[in-house]
Amino acid sequence: MFNAVFIDKQDGEQRVEIKSLDESELPDGDVTVRVQSSTLNYKDALAITGKGPVVKQFPMVPGIDLSGVVEESSASDFKPGDTVLLNGWGVGEKHWGGLAEKARLDSRWLIPQPAAFTPYQSMAIGTAGYTAMLAVMALESHGVTPDQGEILVTGANGGVGSYAITLLARLGYHVVASTGRLEESEYLRGLGAEGVIDRHELSEPGRPLAKERWAGAIDCVGSHTLANVLASTKYDGTVACCGLAQGMDLPASVAPFILRGVTLAGIDSVMKPLAYRVEAWRRLGELLDPEQLTTITQSLTLDQAIGAADDLLEGKIRGRVVVDMT
Ligand code: NDP
Repeated sequence: MFNAVFIDKQDGEQRVEIKSLDESELPDGDVTVRVQSSTLNYKDALAITGKGPVVKQFPMVPGIDLSGVVEESSASDFKPGDTVLLNGWGVGEKHWGGLAEKARLDSRWLIPQPAAFTPYQSMAIGTAGYTAMLAVMALESHGVTPDQGEILVTGANGGVGSYAITLLARLGYHVVASTGRLEESEYLRGLGAEGVIDRHELSEPGRPLAKERWAGAIDCVGSHTLANVLASTKYDGTVACCGLAQGMDLPASVAPFILRGVTLAGIDSVMKPLAYRVEAWRRLGELLDPEQLTTITQSLTLDQAIGAADDLLEGKIRGRVVVDMT
C-alpha cells in the first residue's frame, strides 16, 4: 500500500483526499518508481483546487514532477535502483502523477537523475526551474546577449520567476523583476535582480507601443502584462512567454512585431523533446549552486500539499515547494 493525493469527481463535485492505495491500482507503465520527492506547481494547485481544467480524467493523482528510485522495470534503459526524474508529459493531468509515494510510468518520460543534484534538489528546481532554463535558452537562441540591456522577469516571486532571475543573473544579464510583492524585494535582489518594479505598472491596458526598455523578457503572467511587455521591448528583442498567472488572454497589437521586429517565443515544458530536456538539465547543473536552492525552497509533507494549493494560487507562496516523501 502507498499514500497518494487522490482527486475524484462525482456528480460534478470534486473531492481531494490523502488515500491509501494498492500497487495493483497503479496505471499501466513499464517502470515503477518509489517517489522520493515531488513538488507543488501552479498547475498542481489548479488540479487540486479544481480551479482550472488541468485534470483530464478522474480519478487522478496530481503532480507534474517527480524524482525517485526505480523499483521495477521492463524497460531496457532503466533498472531497479536507478534514480530518475520526470517533468511533464501530461503526468498529473492524464496519467497518475508524482504526489504519491509510488508511480508507474512510461520509461520514455524519464531521464536519469542529473548528477549535479540530489533527488530533493532536482525537485527544488522542478518544472519551474527547467521551464526557466528553457526560456533563457530561447532568449539566447534569438540572440539576446547580456550587453544589450535590461531583461524583465514577470511573476518574479513565483517558481519560474525566481529561477529565471537566478539563471539570467548567473549568465551576466541585468535583470529587473516585476512583482506584486514589493516587500519581497530583498529576496529578489538576493537572487540577482538589479531592479524591482511594481507589477501594477504593467497589468492595466496600455498603448500598442511604449518607450523601448527591455532587451528581452521572461513572462510568467500573460494578459495585459505580456501585451505591455511586448509594447516596451526594444528593437529586435525577444520575449519568452511561459505562463498565465494574470490571464490566458493576450490583448496586444501587431505593432511590436511589425515595427520593432520583436519576437514572441513560446515556451512549453510539457511535451518538449528529450534532447532539449537533457540539455536544459545539463545547463541547470552548470549554472545553479545547489546550496542556493534552499533560499528558493520550502518543504511540505504529502498531507500538507492539499492545503497549500489555495495559498499558492493566491500568490502567498514564495519560490518553490518540495513535497518530501523520504
Ligand atoms: P507560481 O504560482 O509559483 O508563481 C506565479 C507568480 O505570478 C506569483 O508568485 C506572482 O508573482 C505572479 N502572479 C500571481 N497572480 C498574478 C496576477 N493576477 N497578475 C500578475 N501576476 C500574478 O507559479 P509558477 O512560477 O510555477 O508558474 C508561473 C506560470 O507559468 C503559471 O501560469 C504556470 O502555469 C506557468 N508555467 C508554464 C510552464 C510551461 O511549460 N509553459 C511550466 C511551468 C509553469 P509576484 O507575487 O512576484 O507578483
